[in-house]
Amino acid sequence: ESVVNRIAAGEVIQRPVSAVKELVENSLDASSTSISVVVKDGGLKLIQVSDDGHGIRHEDLPILCERHTTSKLSKYEDLQSIKSMGFRGEALASMTYVGHVTVTTITKGQLHGYRVSYRDGMMEHEPKACAAVKGTQIMVENLFYNMIARRKTLQNSADDYTKIVDLLSRFAIHYIDVSFSCRKHGAARADVHSVATSSRLDAIRSVYGLSVARNLIKIEASDNDPSSSVFEMDGFISNSNYVVKKTTMVLFINDRLVECTALKRALEIVYSATLPKASKPFIYMSIILPPEHVDVNVHPTKREVSLLNQEVIIEKIQSVVESMLRNSNE
Ligand code: ADP
Ligand code: MG
Repeated sequence: ESVVNRIAAGEVIQRPVSAVKELVENSLDASSTSISVVVKDGGLKLIQVSDDGHGIRHEDLPILCERHTTSKLSKYEDLQSIKSMGFRGEALASMTYVGHVTVTTITKGQLHGYRVSYRDGMMEHEPKACAAVKGTQIMVENLFYNMIARRKTLQNSADDYTKIVDLLSRFAIHYIDVSFSCRKHGAARADVHSVATSSRLDAIRSVYGLSVARNLIKIEASDNDPSSSVFEMDGFISNSNYVVKKTTMVLFINDRLVECTALKRALEIVYSATLPKASKPFIYMSIILPPEHVDVNVHPTKREVSLLNQEVIIEKIQSVVESMLRNSNE
């Protein structure tokens, strides 16, 4: 049984960056205002995510890392929207089958917190009382210690740390009222360091730099026609003064970080058709749609989404972006 669990877990958590994404999403779900990530050895030695969210109740700790344990179902009215959030209650459990997970947490009004370690879905010992300030810290150590081939591939591949920094950068420009930091273990300097702000441009400037932030055009579109499509979009796209070879597309749909290849391609096409220079765009885009119109791929690690009326929505966004780019170019 444990081999089966390990293989399944290795599918949910494919690389260190997948674990970081799940942990940060949990911190966001816990209403945190500050999230910091520490990584050692590209995440293979240590991933540590600390937040100042609502914490985990003592009585919830024994089953925290059992598969399908989630505190989040009551938030969603119907099965469709549960599905759209991906797999529930799989992430922490999966991490305990492929790494060593230690949780330190304190809930509001408690005098002390608790610390407990997990393996293979179970607590290794009773929760121990400990000092804690606010929120939750989750440590994942020795990821894939029991999957030798995976560990080897990851050790030889380009540093996952770059992917983790990229991930945190994306979160930081969407959740601008949350502070994010990401650093290598022992490093004095953080590689992502964003302070909560009310200005999206400030957030983009602090994360991606002035060269991007000073060359952005605001984009907006919406539709409210139930027979064709219902959505609201807003974001930024780079103008012709920003010249790079590779597209950066930061896409959030209903506040979840996702990928939509068809939309990305459509925007690259208008970009190269509208702007004279051979450059690729930087795009930040947030789309809000009825949750039942979003279909997240059944596989938990694929962030590719498809949308109801996708072609209509893409065409509308494409034409709005095209005219905004043209205006800026005149
Ligand atoms: P899911 O997020 O789908 O519910 P997870 O396995 O990611 O499943 O997490 C299991 C549960 O652990 C969550 O439902 C939540 O109750 C609790 N949890 C995990 N991380 C945190 C955190 N940082 N703060 C508060 N609660 C957390
Ligand atoms: Mg989760």
